[in-house]
Amino acid sequence: MSKKIFSFTSLLLLLLPFTLIAQTTPDEFLGHRVGADRKLADYNQIQAYFKKLDKESGKIKVLTIGQSTLNKPIIMAVITSEDNMAKLDTYRGISKKLRDARGLTPDGARKLAKEGKVIVFITCNLHSDEIGSSQMALEFAYKLVTGKTPFDADKVLEDVIILIAPTINPDGQQMVTDWYRKYVGTKYEGGRMPWLYQKYAGHDNNRDWFMLNLAETKAVTKVMYQDWIPQIHIDQHQIGSSGARLWIPPFANPPNPNVHPLIWRGVALCGMNMAYDLQKNGFKGVQYGQEFAGWWDGACDNTPWFHNTICLLSEAASARMASPINIDSAEISKSYIEKSMQFPDPWPGGWWRLRDMVDYEITLSMSLVKTAYLHKKDFLYNFYKMCKDSIEKREEGQPYAFVMPKKQCDYPTTLRMLDILMSAGVEINQAKEDFVIGDKLYPAGSFVILMSQPYRPYVQALLEIQKHPDIKRQYPNGPFIPLAYDNAGWTLPLQMGIKCDQINNPFKANLTKLDKVPYPSPTPPQETASYIVLDSRLNTSYSVVFSLIKTKAEIYRSKDIIKGKGFEAAAGSFIVKNTPQVRKALPVLLDKWDVRAFGLENIADIPKASLKRFRIGLYQSWRSNMDEGWTRYVFDDLSIPFATLHNKDFKGTKEKKVNLRAKFDVIVFADENANIIKTGRRSPSSRYARYYSGSIPPEYEGGIGKEGVEALKSFVEQGGILVTLNSACGLAFDDFNVPAGNALERVDRSKFSCPGSILRVKVDNKSPIGYGMPKEAAIMFYQSMALSTRIPSEGWDRKVVARFPEDDILLSGWLFGEDVIARKAAVVDIKHKKGHIILIGFPCQHRAQSHGTYKFLLNALLYPEVK
Ligand SMILES: [Zn+2]
Repeated sequence: MSKKIFSFTSLLLLLLPFTLIAQTTPDEFLGHRVGADRKLADYNQIQAYFKKLDKESGKIKVLTIGQSTLNKPIIMAVITSEDNMAKLDTYRGISKKLRDARGLTPDGARKLAKEGKVIVFITCNLHSDEIGSSQMALEFAYKLVTGKTPFDADKVLEDVIILIAPTINPDGQQMVTDWYRKYVGTKYEGGRMPWLYQKYAGHDNNRDWFMLNLAETKAVTKVMYQDWIPQIHIDQHQIGSSGARLWIPPFANPPNPNVHPLIWRGVALCGMNMAYDLQKNGFKGVQYGQEFAGWWDGACDNTPWFHNTICLLSEAASARMASPINIDSAEISKSYIEKSMQFPDPWPGGWWRLRDMVDYEITLSMSLVKTAYLHKKDFLYNFYKMCKDSIEKREEGQPYAFVMPKKQCDYPTTLRMLDILMSAGVEINQAKEDFVIGDKLYPAGSFVILMSQPYRPYVQALLEIQKHPDIKRQYPNGPFIPLAYDNAGWTLPLQMGIKCDQINNPFKANLTKLDKVPYPSPTPPQETASYIVLDSRLNTSYSVVFSLIKTKAEIYRSKDIIKGKGFEAAAGSFIVKNTPQVRKALPVLLDKWDVRAFGLENIADIPKASLKRFRIGLYQSWRSNMDEGWTRYVFDDLSIPFATLHNKDFKGTKEKKVNLRAKFDVIVFADENANIIKTGRRSPSSRYARYYSGSIPPEYEGGIGKEGVEALKSFVEQGGILVTLNSACGLAFDDFNVPAGNALERVDRSKFSCPGSILRVKVDNKSPIGYGMPKEAAIMFYQSMALSTRIPSEGWDRKVVARFPEDDILLSGWLFGEDVIARKAAVVDIKHKKGHIILIGFPCQHRAQSHGTYKFLLNALLYPEVK
């Protein structure tokens, strides 16, 4: 029920001109208390409530900041005083001005800091099943606009502009709420969903924050670095159930050296105030300073540090969605029973419910708003100061610029990287004339990123080689302690296969600053040419080819380099017969994919093999496998047609065995444990087994089974191509008896360590799986393998396509035990009867980031020998 003013007298209406309508509480609106046991507000309700509050109060305004992947509006509420609300553009403008010290003196900045308002951005529920913050947001907003706050809200909202997005993954919020409601009251209550809660990424939606693949990441990034430029940001999450009740910053070691120290101090200031406010209100079990490290650059709460923005993370303990749980003190791990300086008040165990999370999160969010208010001028001025330091202060040994030569193996991918950087606020220049650095000539059109810019730390952290500090061992000569958080190395040009030189000394060049990425307008080749050539070095050439295949074009892949008039194309390049249909389709395709095509008259002397129709299947388990999602992302991104295969598709009936070959030419298994693929479960001995203990409805149990393995064997024997990525290679080792294995399988964990790093491989780019690759490439090694091959028995053959060199294997990140993988294989093409098994021992499409190694997969999809 809404309490409308119409129930009051008209006299009262005249007396209260600014509170025309009383504000509806979220409890009234939902019909239950926010965070009540077994009750969740879904995204439709969340949107409706925020919009209602917007109508009822002048202190809140609801905006749509973008569309989600599945086309839901992503909403964000602005909460501030009514006076500020009328001048939002002015205050956004001040934030933008403070970012750029070129033309703003310290005195000018001080004036702006006084006049401006500190902008605090709160993002909730990026991880959909970490549901608490999406509920918290309703009550938090209500309390702010009605002044039911632990501070004088009228005063605070005069100085603070709060932006709150109740969920930055609305698709998932709705999905998990629907799933929860469907099974509440059954034995599956509070269990996990069998598919990803973000169409492509699931939980990896928090690994996308420098790559900006996802619609949601793009929308939030635009708020951060283009539209609002907040000085403070917090991203609210949840952790497991049996540790701390709440984790808050400061962050753990190691700090990334590019981040301005004032960021860490600002983070600590806000975090300590939170800890203090929580403690004084009796909240137990709050921990800080451990677990989540300050090194990596890829999560929602990380990238802002590199943009001189104070950014925090909160991680509340989870219940089972909205179902309460009871935790015995014996179930709490030892480190959360003992007191420490980072954890002075342990939680003793007992009931833990959604409402508890809401209470912790409202308290910490209020605390953050209060801290922002108390230090308003300081936070605004120091944002200016950090950006000014980024522009002006270059320390000894730091780069002056990064330069991307015009001539690249894959020019469209180079432009894509520039696009990503620009979306995150990076300034990019292009050279108008040739220029020289040392003895190297860079032609006009080369791209130059000067480090003297407000977001220098971000540029450097993405483009430089990461040198991760030494990783500690559990005891002398013992196993290495796993990384606190994700990857040790991520250098973007290496991942994307782009030549990018770090230049440490100033140089002269005639540069123009770009306001958008200069995508070329390709000219189609001469209409009269008999054949068209598309270079295999461009990922997007494959996209053009997939479209042409649909038109039944006659296509070949060259087995060697093609030297034509005014061009040279790599081995594996596509030769397309220039029919009227091709002539009609080509201009649009070349423009869409930024591909240049070349004309050719006579192909009689070119060694080649023909390409036929390709029917691709991609396996999807019911274990919400993120790598499968990213593979789908890559396929959709490059317009590659495919069908999803589930467990049932590997099973026939009593009368009829399943015949995969009749429907598919290529079947791809993304990175997934072979036991899960076969049985739906990890082997019981696995250290991850406990994460899979939740019960799930029977239709989502199981795997492809023995029958599925047999069906895959006959698929290969009949000429199919089976592709296994990273740990899915285990499927081929266990059940196919391929002449290859994982050399790391029995290696002691004290002898080898390589957490998420970029390694060097040598590629045979004359073999079909290596087509279009450079002779030396950078791969993302992520819980990966080193493949050892052996002399094959009758009916088998193997070809090493990519291998680790003898030494100097590490390119970026951290590696110990290089000798263990030296000379071992990374990609192997196994021939068996009429078909192939392609073992790719690392995720060559890692999070849709490693564009530089996509071709190993693309070539497997367009293997030319298949008849
Ligand atoms: Zn999370």
